Amino acid sequence: MSWGAGSFLRKAHGRHAVRSPLQRSPSKYSALELVRHAVTREEWPRIWSERQLRPTYDVVVIGAGVHGLATAYYLAARHGIRDVAVLERSYVGGGGSGRNTAIIRSNYLTPDGVRFYKHSVELYRSLARELNFNVMFSQRGHLTLAHNDGSLRAMRWRAEVNKLEGVESEVISPADIKELAPLVDTSASTRYPILGALYHPPGGIIRHDAVNWGYARAAHALGVEIHQETEVIGISVECGRVQGVMTTRGQISTPVVVNATAGWASLVAKMAGVRLPIMTHPLQAAVTEPVKMFLRTVIVSGSLHVYVSQTDRGELVFGASTDPFASYSTRGSLEFTEELARHVLDLMPAIAPLRVLRQWAGLCDLTPDFSPIIGATQVQGFLLDVGWGTYGFKAGPAAGEAIAELIANGNTPRLIAAFDLARFAEGRLVNERGAAAVGH
Ligand SMILES: Cc1cc2nc3c(=O)[nH]c(=O)nc-3n(C[C@H](O)[C@H](O)[C@H](O)COP(=O)(O)OP(=O)(O)OC[C@H]3O[C@@H](n4cnc5c(N)ncnc54)[C@H](O)[C@@H]3O)c2cc1C
Repeated sequence: MSWGAGSFLRKAHGRHAVRSPLQRSPSKYSALELVRHAVTREEWPRIWSERQLRPTYDVVVIGAGVHGLATAYYLAARHGIRDVAVLERSYVGGGGSGRNTAIIRSNYLTPDGVRFYKHSVELYRSLARELNFNVMFSQRGHLTLAHNDGSLRAMRWRAEVNKLEGVESEVISPADIKELAPLVDTSASTRYPILGALYHPPGGIIRHDAVNWGYARAAHALGVEIHQETEVIGISVECGRVQGVMTTRGQISTPVVVNATAGWASLVAKMAGVRLPIMTHPLQAAVTEPVKMFLRTVIVSGSLHVYVSQTDRGELVFGASTDPFASYSTRGSLEFTEELARHVLDLMPAIAPLRVLRQWAGLCDLTPDFSPIIGATQVQGFLLDVGWGTYGFKAGPAAGEAIAELIANGNTPRLIAAFDLARFAEGRLVNERGAAAVGH
């Protein structure tokens, strides 16, 4: 879909010449700099600073999570569009991007989904170098367990689609699972016997805060402004075109507004008169005390509604499926912890002595087909990068890159064409339910 951004682009390019990424970076991180700071005891500069909110911008991005920050970074780095403000009602990474369990993978079910997430994983692989920020991406392998014939069949299906799209995935036996994760109970006498698993070697975990901060720092170095504690409370639209936004700190005029607000996406879209088929549900997670490394791979069980990984610091990070009711609450619940502990111990009885240190919740914007909504809307200049549900952290780089390209060139990149808003009215759903519900 083309949304006629040509005139806006000419204006932006006239004003800003394209520069290479991080040309204006305040400090380059390197081993040498680390030693220099250790010796001189010089303070590290702040990685981004507050600037004054101005009354006009070429582009306003709402939401400083991974999607909003990546969009701003790619606009500046790839297209030279730097007159960009990222507006955030709380703080950078205060939404799902700072609360997720940081699982990165591309073993989805639909060809559109697999192609999209594959590209995002590729971008993640080179992100630390591109941003000059260690995002600690660890491709340690990802196992999705099958406890019944139906799940095993879905895994075989996913493995075949993955292979066709060039993504490494295969169905493995309980004996292979035992080798990869010795503490998983693969015996036939366990309560929910494991019949096999989908093994996805490129999957893994990342340091989510580092990704958010890395994008924020790099975008800021290129001239992007990040305004925290700045809530958008209205969007003005005239003759079907975006004119600007009203914030808690005043009005801003702009021809382009990107909605990257995840759990709040439908509320923000409503301000522009756009209705979204999105329900917001809380999703909880928990972490244990750190112990010696024993779990290399990420382990997911859709049937038991639970998944677990071990961080480089040694903590076990647990997640589950969303709370069963729509809500904007981010409170944890005892029911979640009890259920989680029961199912995790069904999988790995040996970890019973471990103590849970903390639990938390974030908001997830769920669509009916478990795929995102990215691209243009009926309101010219009002773009969506939403519907990321429980699985959108891994998508940040590819979605940000695609939205930046859409703004710069006015055409929807092929990678996101299937994820348009019109698909719900036209019955072209991209059904990822079988690969996106608990697996995140
Ligand atoms: C517990 C949990 C575990 C998860 N695990 C994974 C995982 O392992 N892997 C994975 O890929 N995904 C995971 N996810 C999903 C992932 O976190 C999200 O899909 C992703 O972070 C969404 O990023 P975002 O940038 O779109 O939104 P967010 O990071 O939520 O950012 C949106 C921002 O918009 C701001 N905002 C809202 N309204 C306004 C307004 N009116 N004005 C200004 N700002 C506003 C919010 O404050 C927020 O900071 C998990 C989520 C949760 C909660």
